[in-house]
Amino acid sequence: MTDDTTHDDDGTSEAGETDDAVATPDGGVEETTIDPWGSATIADYRKLFEEFGIEEFEELLGGVPTPHYLMRRGVIFGHRDYEPVADALANDEPAAALSGFMPTGDPHIGHKLVFDEIIWHQQRGADAYALIADLEAHSARGMTWDEIDDHTESYLLSLLALGFDAEDGTLYRQSENRELQDLAFELGSNARFAEFGSIYGFDGETSVSHTQSVVTQMADMLYPQLVDGPKPTVIPVGPDQDPHVRLARDLAVRMRYFKVTEAYASFEADAAQRELIGRAYDALTADLDSDEMVRCAAAADWLAEYDAAPEFTDAKTAAVDKLSEAGKEPVRPRVRFFHRHGADDAFEAMIDAIDGEKRVYEGHIDAFDLDFEAAEELAREIEVDTGGYGFIQPSSIYHRFMTGLTGGKMSSSIPASHISLLDDPETGYDKVKSATTGGRETADKQRELGGEADDCPVYELYAYLLANDDDGLVEEVYEECVGGERLCGDCKEQAATLMEEFLKTHQEKREEARELLDDLDIVLDSDRKGPGGSH
Ligand code: SF4
Repeated sequence: MTDDTTHDDDGTSEAGETDDAVATPDGGVEETTIDPWGSATIADYRKLFEEFGIEEFEELLGGVPTPHYLMRRGVIFGHRDYEPVADALANDEPAAALSGFMPTGDPHIGHKLVFDEIIWHQQRGADAYALIADLEAHSARGMTWDEIDDHTESYLLSLLALGFDAEDGTLYRQSENRELQDLAFELGSNARFAEFGSIYGFDGETSVSHTQSVVTQMADMLYPQLVDGPKPTVIPVGPDQDPHVRLARDLAVRMRYFKVTEAYASFEADAAQRELIGRAYDALTADLDSDEMVRCAAAADWLAEYDAAPEFTDAKTAAVDKLSEAGKEPVRPRVRFFHRHGADDAFEAMIDAIDGEKRVYEGHIDAFDLDFEAAEELAREIEVDTGGYGFIQPSSIYHRFMTGLTGGKMSSSIPASHISLLDDPETGYDKVKSATTGGRETADKQRELGGEADDCPVYELYAYLLANDDDGLVEEVYEECVGGERLCGDCKEQAATLMEEFLKTHQEKREEARELLDDLDIVLDSDRKGPGGSH
């Protein structure tokens, strides 16, 4: 789950759609691939919604307290299950934010997006975590420990310089965190190599340490809840890291002691079947006296005659069969607690804790006076009380990749395509001045047709970084550009000057942060040995 910007072709942008507010240049790549260790290629962000179930961030923007400019401008475009985090921030309840950085090179402006996201959550009350994914860098990238040490220091200096509060937040290296490694071991007990094959394409040639680094990343994402108990936790990453997020969410569920479901009778039914049985139950109870009960056989008859929508056809057949088989058994809404992990005392504690009517079976309990949410809360409470983790599935937010200054991908292996946070301010100025633009061939044409801000890496620099919180400046650049009032020479001069100022200030702050870093309990001179994985 280390941020996408930590890869060799990190911070890339190959979007194929345009956006009213933010530049989304078309890199010409046709496919949508999600590969955490490959070069990031996202041809069409809309496909991520359709194919991978990432949700649109814009839809919940109204529920986010004072959203960050990256959220307002659509740079953060997607999420998985971010609502609980937004709610916690809005209501001053516990929440956490965590992201990892693989120290394979100098931090650059792509990483700044993630640093800013972590810091923003910290400033809104979330517990903030930033980790150095050194085990991953060593096993998956073959970085030596000396290289890792150098880059680790540099990442941390930039993070502190940008405003991360190290006293209030947590910084760690994977290799130094024993609790994390223990959690990874536990998670590995519930992960199967076959699924690593299907998710990541791992095969017989994949190193054991690379596999281990994946479970370590899963542990990273759950680590804030290990430290302080269950809480909504967001992982800000690029969309190429989504496979890690999905696996971590699965593992969080697999670690739970109890699975809580809703049911109407002794048999199991899936969500669609439950929906139909619920309709039968509601219809039949409406005509009954309070002391009468709906029987499964009657519900089967009612449902057999019910005109269900076509997508419910299979569910209807299955539900009718199950109800018929249950015959005279009453239909009664209930929540069911399946005991999946943990010792018998956890099951006993669960039985004791359920108020109201309950029935205890081999391996599960039915409770008749609890609603689903209360049951979920109770299950988590008992799990934590009896030695379990009680994990809440981690949430995620996804940001767009930045376009390279030379067009196409931004790649750390092509210096002119990106700006390192360690670049001399003058070098940063020169790189912006040399950047490709969305301008027309001649000034006259630009005045006549307007520039193509949506296809301009310089406009993107304003929106992602240079304008900072000033939405007015971003709008001004966009409107003047597309309206033909702004010409690229002046526009780049303004952007280059802003970049020069940003780098100068950032590097001064990095120097000030050295003292802070010296006081932190984080190893910057590892005594580890070993060649690591192959490059
Ligand atoms: Fe890009 Fe500015 Fe030129 Fe517009 S005027 S195309 S924003 S450099």
